Amino acid sequence: MLRSIKQLYYNNSGFTDEEYHEFEETRKKLNIQRCVIICEFLIILNIVLVLFDRFYYFSFRKANPAYTYLFYSHITVMVLAVLWLLIMYLINCNIKNPKYTFMYLLLASIVVYWGVFMGLNGLNISGQITAYIICALSLSLVVYLCPIEGLILYSTSLMIFIIGLCLFPIEKKIIYSHIINAIIAILCSYIASCINYSALKSDFISKKIILEKQKELEANNVKLREYEKLRTDFFANISHELRTPLNIIYSSQQMMENILLEKKQNVGNINNYLKMMKQNSFRLIKLVNNLIDMTKIDATIYEIKPLNCDIVSLVENITMSTAEYIESKGISLTFDTEFEEKVISCDPEKIERIILNLLSNSIKFTHADGSIFVNIYMRDGKVNISVKDTGIGIPDEMKELIFDRFIQVDKSINRNREGSGIGLSLVKSLVEMHNGSISVNSVIGQGSEFIISLPDVQTDKNCGENYFKCLEDQRVERINIEFSDIYE
Ligand code: ADP
Repeated sequence: MLRSIKQLYYNNSGFTDEEYHEFEETRKKLNIQRCVIICEFLIILNIVLVLFDRFYYFSFRKANPAYTYLFYSHITVMVLAVLWLLIMYLINCNIKNPKYTFMYLLLASIVVYWGVFMGLNGLNISGQITAYIICALSLSLVVYLCPIEGLILYSTSLMIFIIGLCLFPIEKKIIYSHIINAIIAILCSYIASCINYSALKSDFISKKIILEKQKELEANNVKLREYEKLRTDFFANISHELRTPLNIIYSSQQMMENILLEKKQNVGNINNYLKMMKQNSFRLIKLVNNLIDMTKIDATIYEIKPLNCDIVSLVENITMSTAEYIESKGISLTFDTEFEEKVISCDPEKIERIILNLLSNSIKFTHADGSIFVNIYMRDGKVNISVKDTGIGIPDEMKELIFDRFIQVDKSINRNREGSGIGLSLVKSLVEMHNGSISVNSVIGQGSEFIISLPDVQTDKNCGENYFKCLEDQRVERINIEFSDIYE
């Protein structure tokens, strides 16, 4: 019952069950440690008192039996304290041992009841009840008693003391004054015990908060270190990404200069050099565009402009615009759809960016003779767009990570494929801006499938014919930019 009352008290003071057990364990541990100190102190004190008694008060015993009680009381306390220490030793200081639960309460009771006896005995010898007051006050300061424990312990001791006092053949007036003194002392002890207890509680709560904050801080530190490493890797990679096309552009320009100056070499090569310069300029544009978008997304100033448009024809047109390029790489391209038309709210420009990015990755990571499939279908009330390839696949442990910024499966500078590791993180952000989601299924050596899931909703703005035409007119340039890091 005491336990359930205590639990009720703890719950009311904002402790969870788990915190209650943790706090109780800490309190038990501290109380046991302090009780051991009390025991040691009592043993030493009582040895001194017994010796004092033996040499100084021995002669008074016959005249006043209270001195005899005092002597036996010292011996009893000494024996009890030694016994208590022995039990502690036998339990071997294993604080989790259930036998510990009431150990400190037992010792606290012995101390306070011993105080009652000493007080009454002292009244017999010197008319003072100081021993009881000292015991009660010291206990309240040394042992952490919860308010209920304290209430039971102090009130029973007071009751025993008052009964004992009433048995004394002394004046009623003196009895009342002693009762008043004892009540005041016990009230003070109880208040001190409550203050001591709540100090322990708030100390425990603050330590817990500090510990939690420390854990949070450590976790953040780990994340920060990981992010810092990614940033360093990214800058190493970005330097490579910037230098490679710049080198190619510069050397192509030099080769062209030589051809034009000396006219010795084949003038026809100029077209090849121009092509290389164009592709690498596009590659630089792609990189810079991605960096700008990444910064805008971070600054939350990147916005999409949703319009009602037929997602089937949009995705089909984008896919078919890349068909010639994909087939020139020896890869077959198939587009399939579950329905002829599906009007949903989306930003056509961003959808183009998403599809081109996924197609560019599929081309990059699929060998000649492989295949790419683009498919549109409804699943669970959502419009799903799947871009699937028969390429090299993605290891299981990288499937979630590739959507994070700067993450590449093959990070080595001398890897076969170029890239900055920003593409998929941008795709993910763009899809999420459409309230959609992106997932990947992949088997190493067999291929990967990226599935975009968009909500089947419409907005109040429609997409005009002219808008679509404009978008398609400039698509070739954007394909060139998006595919610029694909090499032979
Ligand atoms: P990158 O510019 O390096 O391609 P992305 O963010 O687009 O950056 O892709 C991150 C990584 O995910 C790539 O470096 C690659 O390792 C992996 N990846 C993306 N798409 C595919 C795919 N279709 N097949 C195999 N791996 C892929």
